[in-house]
Amino acid sequence: MAAENYKEVERRVSKACARAGRNREEVTLIAVSKTKPLEAIEELVAIGVTEFGENKVQELCQKEESVSTPVHWHMIGTLQRNKVKYIVDKAYLIHSVDSLKLAQEIQKEAVKKQVEPAILIEVNIGNEETKSGVAYEEAENLVKEIALLSNVHVKGLMCIAPFVENPEENREHFRRMEALRKRIQAEKIPGVEMSELSMGMTGDFEVAIEEGATYVRVGTAIFGERNYAGQEIK
Ligand SMILES: *Cc1c(COP(=O)(O)O)cnc(C)c1O
Repeated sequence: MAAENYKEVERRVSKACARAGRNREEVTLIAVSKTKPLEAIEELVAIGVTEFGENKVQELCQKEESVSTPVHWHMIGTLQRNKVKYIVDKAYLIHSVDSLKLAQEIQKEAVKKQVEPAILIEVNIGNEETKSGVAYEEAENLVKEIALLSNVHVKGLMCIAPFVENPEENREHFRRMEALRKRIQAEKIPGVEMSELSMGMTGDFEVAIEEGATYVRVGTAIFGERNYAGQEIK
């Protein structure tokens, strides 16, 4: 089931890349496996999928330990400072850094474990009260501050766009994210890459690709509906 769905999403990703005149290699499809059992993950591992997204520290750690094939685990959910120590050496990319304090904690634990974690800065693109992320206007400053932390490497930006019925409603948000990424990249901040843009989910990943996403995070379209009804994505 998950494998079939994945292949269909893959086809849609390819088509969106073609429409946008982008190479398929420019976009990484992350299978968001949160709340889903190991069997579903293994089904994808068996067809060669290597990118998985989780939003809870404990779940990421458990799955990381259980899946023996080496794959990349993306931390996409809100990260509490007291849990940084559990994932700093396990997450391939932390998508959800939205404060200097959190980045400082990542730095501290990274030094202890002698690792150099890659992170993205989460931007609250829709200015939604319920969502985490730094304000659009403050993102550049935050990147500059985090750039001074020796072990933490800023690779780009991430956003969770508002939930909308029609994905076209998010196009402008995605466009502004790409504009911000380019603007910060042009600053050539030492140690900051700014090449990645993590945006687009089941409802809007094609529009996100058309507007410059380099990572799309897709859960429902691959694994089916999750078992909790109406839970806010934080
Ligand atoms: C759950 C989640 C996703 C995937 O959402 P779907 O709509 O199921 O594709 C993507 N990003 C984040 C941060 C999430 O928490």
